[in-house]
Amino acid sequence: MRKACRKCKAIFEGQNCPVCKGNQFSESWKGRIIVLDLENSEIAKKIKIPSKGEFAIKVG
Ligand SMILES: [Zn+2]
Repeated sequence: MRKACRKCKAIFEGQNCPVCKGNQFSESWKGRIIVLDLENSEIAKKIKIPSKGEFAIKVG
């Protein structure tokens, strides 16, 4: 099951977040955004996404 990082909201599988290397995650997350162009993504700025990739909108 895929999970979302509590720190940066990245969606990933495995033990550690590939974006921030954190190991705090949640399996209850909602919404999904795929960021391809960080500079031009308003929602990415709004929810403070740190890099390109796949992120959850809300992490429970
Ligand atoms: Zn992370």
